[in-house]
Amino acid sequence: MTMDLASTEVDTTSRSDPIVRPADYGVYNQELDELFAAVRATHPETNFAVLCKAFEIAEFQHRPQTRTSGEPYITHPLAVAKIVAELGMNEPTVVAAILHDTVEDTDYTLEEMTQDFSEEVAQMVDAVTKLDKSLYGDHAKAETIRKIIVAMFHDIRVVVIKLADRLHNMRTIGSLRPDKQNRVAKETLDIYAPLAHRLGMNTVKWELEDLAFAALQPKIYHQIVHQVAAEQPAREKILQEIVPVALESLESKGIKAKVFGRPKHYFSIYQKMVIRGRDFTDIYDLLGLRVVVESESDCYLALAAIHSLWQPLPGRFKDYIVNPKYSTYQSLHTTVVGPQGKPVEFQIRTKEMNRNAEYGVAAHWKYKKNPTAGKKGTARLDPMDLLWVKRLSQWQAEEDDPAVFLDYLTTDLAGKEVMAFSPNSDLYFLPQGATPVDFAYTIHTEVGHHCIGARINGKLVRLDTALSDGDVCEILTTKSPDAGPSRDWLDFVKSPRSRQKINQFFSKERRDLSIESGKDVLAKQLRHSGLPLQRILTLPYLTAVASKLRFSDISALYAAVGEGKVGAQRIVDQLIALEGGKEHAAEESFEDRGFFSIPRRDIQRKSSGVEVEGDPDVLVKLARCCTPVPGDEILGFVTRAQGVSVHRRDCRNVQDLLNQPERILHVSWSAHASANYLVTISVEGLDRTGLLADVSATLAEDKVSIVSAQVQVGKDRTTHMTLSFEIPDPSFLHQVIKKVRTVPEVTEVRRVNA
Ligand code: MN
Repeated sequence: MTMDLASTEVDTTSRSDPIVRPADYGVYNQELDELFAAVRATHPETNFAVLCKAFEIAEFQHRPQTRTSGEPYITHPLAVAKIVAELGMNEPTVVAAILHDTVEDTDYTLEEMTQDFSEEVAQMVDAVTKLDKSLYGDHAKAETIRKIIVAMFHDIRVVVIKLADRLHNMRTIGSLRPDKQNRVAKETLDIYAPLAHRLGMNTVKWELEDLAFAALQPKIYHQIVHQVAAEQPAREKILQEIVPVALESLESKGIKAKVFGRPKHYFSIYQKMVIRGRDFTDIYDLLGLRVVVESESDCYLALAAIHSLWQPLPGRFKDYIVNPKYSTYQSLHTTVVGPQGKPVEFQIRTKEMNRNAEYGVAAHWKYKKNPTAGKKGTARLDPMDLLWVKRLSQWQAEEDDPAVFLDYLTTDLAGKEVMAFSPNSDLYFLPQGATPVDFAYTIHTEVGHHCIGARINGKLVRLDTALSDGDVCEILTTKSPDAGPSRDWLDFVKSPRSRQKINQFFSKERRDLSIESGKDVLAKQLRHSGLPLQRILTLPYLTAVASKLRFSDISALYAAVGEGKVGAQRIVDQLIALEGGKEHAAEESFEDRGFFSIPRRDIQRKSSGVEVEGDPDVLVKLARCCTPVPGDEILGFVTRAQGVSVHRRDCRNVQDLLNQPERILHVSWSAHASANYLVTISVEGLDRTGLLADVSATLAEDKVSIVSAQVQVGKDRTTHMTLSFEIPDPSFLHQVIKKVRTVPEVTEVRRVNA
């Protein structure tokens, strides 16, 4: 028995005798030795000469290429092959991984590959190559998923290679351009991590998630890493107390076991904070241990032993051995009250269950000389996984909206599925608890919209009846052209797709109504103002107003008026301005001159601390949008009635102002400014109780009084605070910002630059 708090790896430890590498590959010797060791750990019978041949060809073919990092290209396929080998895949798959980029990026052809290796290897590489030719944008995601599903139908090993490829690209994402990093990381979270999850490849999933998380939200990521590290010694101490006691008790009962600490998954901590809306400490309070035993019956014996040592928490025992989660995950879970009253969760499972939990479908090939072979020698998924793949393909055949598809993949499919038949024996898979309405929407959107009743096994039922496995469900529809779903359906439908289709129906209908009423309201208002409709309600005018008010098009403008979001009079004013602007262009220049009769008041100048060059008595105001303080580079802008407004040069509004150079004035800070200056800072951080209080306290220490504060907590558990305060001396601001940065959980502080 061993105790290891650092790792979860149970077996597959390497043997110490050196591998016979048939040749010297210079700088690549070490990488090849590592690859071979990984392959031999699960497939000792492998013919390493074949792997060497694959390496020689790939190395030669890729020789002219380098990665973005500057390394020789061959380092990438070698690393991918190693990941594939670590997952337990066998020789042909490892060979395909070594060669996976040759056909796309070099002169090496599939024909040559078939000659040099086998049809099997060439087919895998061909499929990986086709997966790689992805598009960009939103549509590309759906397209990528579609290709992956098709590939899965033929050979799941292709998807394993693709996931390994993505994993290595994520490990080396740092050398990409920032915008590319973002795109790749998002795609990883949207597609590849959920895919790995559904295939049970959790080690891959976790690593993909953490790498993508670090790339997308580095600040939050590092904050969580930091907090985990800070908590570690205390946790370690409690585990050191528990583990020997648990091991001793298990041993005394004759149970051979290993007890491991559980690795940290930063993204999953973050997700729990977002989903459960709780603080880091609440989430991370739970200690976790994994007990790996020899047999299924030992799992239950170990459970009894642990329950006799520590009090189990009621309602926390889960038997995923009898009821596997996600069709492949098996384990016993229980939470007990450990030392110091701390809850400790134990996961108890056999070696094989652990392997399945970590490697999923890839575990299928581990230690197997001849994996289950399907047609053309390609290995197949086990039936439960096939059901999932099959249902996905059933959906993708009908689904034209990529968003629904992504939603589906990323939705947590913790529950089991229900299988139901149509009257002509077509099989459909639905989420547990699905109703005839879900069934109708699964068949077709229009069947859903026209559904008015249903029969289950020949009997008329209510539409909210839950379907059971094997039910034959017949949907009764109406032919009426204006048939539509009922809002009540939203209370009971189970599939995200039905929900989405029903909502879509109503939002479209509602929008049509809003547009119509918007047109009416606007026409009435124009008539009311005694204005000629035909001359004013023209397409160019409306388009101009819509774009001025930042609407995407005229319909959006009408809809906003119809929904009362924008007053009709405001639109009318804009339209009149356009009309007037044409007829009275000559008068406009006179008005312009008027701008320069600037009000003067001595007192204001003193409190602003700004002097207008050559005219010390001008009324000067500090702009609210950027609240300049002495030391900032500033410029003055002559306003209509309020004298000169002073903006920071880096103010967002300055660009617009510069379009009217005749209204720009040179201004400077006067030497003896004695005013209080209003400053606004924005503080970002990870949400926790008392964060605002701590920030305020820090400001108070410096005798800074807050004038206004706004706090927003985002869905992602980030807090955004906007704080305005007055300071007598702007040189002070630097110091204040620095100090606020030291408040725990604060990730960013900056001066607001409107
Ligand atoms: Mn690649």
